[in-house]
Amino acid sequence: MEKHGWCAVGPKIRTGHCVDCARGLVEPIRSRHINAIDTSILLDHLESLVAFDTRNGSGDEMVCVRYLEESLRVFNPDQLHVGQVARSRGKSDSGYVLAIWGRPDTLLNVHIDTVPSGEGWTADPLDLRKDGDKVVGLGTSDIKGAAACILAALETVTPQNVAVLFSGDEEHGSEVMPAVIASGRLDGVKRAIICEPTSCRVGRAHRGMLAISAGFSGPGGHSSLADVTPRPLLAAARLAAKIGGYADAHMEFGEAPFKGLCVNIGEIESDGAYNVIPTMAKLWLSLRPPPGDNVRQREAEIYALAEMGALDTIVAFEPFATKDMSAFKDVFGDTEIVDLPYWTEASMLSQAGVNAVVYGPGNLEQAHKPDEYVEIAQLEEAARRYAVALAGESS
Ligand SMILES: [Zn+2]
Repeated sequence: MEKHGWCAVGPKIRTGHCVDCARGLVEPIRSRHINAIDTSILLDHLESLVAFDTRNGSGDEMVCVRYLEESLRVFNPDQLHVGQVARSRGKSDSGYVLAIWGRPDTLLNVHIDTVPSGEGWTADPLDLRKDGDKVVGLGTSDIKGAAACILAALETVTPQNVAVLFSGDEEHGSEVMPAVIASGRLDGVKRAIICEPTSCRVGRAHRGMLAISAGFSGPGGHSSLADVTPRPLLAAARLAAKIGGYADAHMEFGEAPFKGLCVNIGEIESDGAYNVIPTMAKLWLSLRPPPGDNVRQREAEIYALAEMGALDTIVAFEPFATKDMSAFKDVFGDTEIVDLPYWTEASMLSQAGVNAVVYGPGNLEQAHKPDEYVEIAQLEEAARRYAVALAGESS
C-alpha cells in the first residue's frame, strides 16, 4: 500500500487527491489527521477473524496469526515479527504477530483466541451475522471485534511510533504474553492499551488470579480400616476448611470494590465411596488478590496452610492497576474510567514496567455465552480511539 497523505478537509484520500474536496494534498503527512472509519471494512475484517477457529482446546491459533501477519504487512510496518510459542499441559502451540512502526511508545494488544462456543448457539458461531445494530459471532465481544477495529483504524492513519500485537492463549493459561515480553521486542514501550470488552470505557484495575491444586494419596481399602489408614479425601476436605477460614479472616481486606480475596474451593476429586477409603483426592481452589496485593505472598500462605499433600500452582497472575492515567488523555479524553471484574494480560505488561489500561468494544455480559454479540456503534467508537493511539503522541 502506498503512503497516505492526508487532506485536512475530506476523508478517503488514497492517491494524492482528496475524493471529497478535490483540493489535493494539503501538506506532507501529518499523523494526527485521522479519516473516518469505514464500517463496512471493519465488519469485513471481523467476519474473516470470526471464521478462524481459535477456540481453546480445538482451534488453531497459528493459522489466524499467519493471516494477521499478512493483514498487517499491507500497512508497511518497519518490523513484523511472528513467534510460535509452546504451551504446557499438552496444549498445541500458540503464537503472536507483532507489527512495529518507528520506535514504539504505544502498544495495542488484542488476543485472538476465544473460549469454546458451548451449547445454545442459534447459528454457526464462526459465521458472523448482522442483527440490526449488532453483529453476532464467537469472539465478536471477546475480543476479535477489537482486532477488526485496529485493522480498520490502520486504513485511516499513518501509524507512528506504535506497535500492534495480536497474541494467542489469553483465555487458557496466558503463556504467549510472557514469551513476547521475554523476547525483548516490547522494550521501550511506555504505554499499552490491552483490548478487552469494557463497553468502550477505560479499565484501570483488576484482581490477580491464583489457582492451586493439592493432591493427597494413600493405599485405600475397606472402610472398616478407616481409623488406621491414611484418608486422602478427609485430608483434602480439612485443607479446604482451613482455607475457608483463611478466606473468612480476609473478608475486610482491601478496598471496595476489591474487598476480600474471592477464595473459591472449586472441586475435590476422589476415587472413594462411603464404604471405600479412597487412594487419592485432589482439591482445586483459587483466589483473586486485589490490586496492590502480592500473589506470590498469597501462594506462600496457602502452601503454609497445607501441612501435607502435593501442591501445584496452576496460575499465579498478579493484580493490575494503571500506573498513570493521564498518559492516555490524548486517546481517551474524558471517557468513563472503570474497575474491572476480570483478569487481563495488562497485569503482565504492568509487571514488565509498562503503563497500561484496558479498553475495548463489547461487554462482559455479551461474552463467553451463546450468540455472543457486539454493538456496531461500539466497534466504531473503539476504532476511532485506536486510530488516535496508532497515530502516535500528539506532542
Ligand atoms: Zn478477552
